[in-house]
Amino acid sequence: MNKKDKNNFCPYCDYSGIIHNTAFEITGDNALSPCPKCVLPKCKCGGEEPYYYSDGDNIRACFCRTTRLKIDRVLEIYNASGIDSKKFRWKTINDFKASSKHASEAKNAAYDIIQKFPDVNKGLYLWGNPGTGKTLLSCIVLTELITHHAVNGKFIKISRNFFNLLRSTFVEGSERYGQSGKIEKDLASVDVLVIDDFGVQRDSPWEQETLYNLIDARYEAEKFTIITSNNNPEKSLKELSEGRILSRLREMCRILELSGEDYREKK
Ligand SMILES: [Zn+2]
Ligand SMILES: [Zn+2]
Repeated sequence: MNKKDKNNFCPYCDYSGIIHNTAFEITGDNALSPCPKCVLPKCKCGGEEPYYYSDGDNIRACFCRTTRLKIDRVLEIYNASGIDSKKFRWKTINDFKASSKHASEAKNAAYDIIQKFPDVNKGLYLWGNPGTGKTLLSCIVLTELITHHAVNGKFIKISRNFFNLLRSTFVEGSERYGQSGKIEKDLASVDVLVIDDFGVQRDSPWEQETLYNLIDARYEAEKFTIITSNNNPEKSLKELSEGRILSRLREMCRILELSGEDYREKK
């Protein structure tokens, strides 16, 4: 944040001018609002788009305008991000309760990224058993980055549906016919991408190839990527393409295990 922002805004909103409404689902508000302490008291437009007001002689941009425009942009990106599940939507780093040493290491790594972005050179590869919070933590990072930086971000779950959607771009008469390549291109170029449930065993060669092309493209473009997987990549990806995929992922991501219990203590 630059000095000017710090002067405009207050510590209550962490000098962003924006607060998270934690009860937004109950109150029916947006998940984000202009700060009630430093922005709303100076707002003269009443929140009416396009956030101008008249002072008698002149039409002036309202103090709230930059903040509200940013909120509008963030909401637009967020609603198109693919984070659909209520379980994961609008969660912040404080919503992640680390229950093991591994989990707290992963939380710290996530916190670090949120603080330093865009000056981060590696994403995350979180792997471990189901139910250890990998998807939650990856959604938290995506949410925080979209909220604070208004960067374009997407969440994709690697599933049958995902591949069916890609396949449908080749099917004549399908709604998405002819978009072949567009979806892949969008995913390759989006600023932040979460690839949830990255796996190997169950996929067909075409599906594997599609995923690896995506990894390759993001590697080449030096795009920030978070991956979750049930498998240890050091084992599951070792043999693939003579280890090329694994070595790219190692360069792109910090590989961290997330487990429910700390196995070092268990042993
Ligand atoms: Zn404030
Ligand atoms: Zn206003």
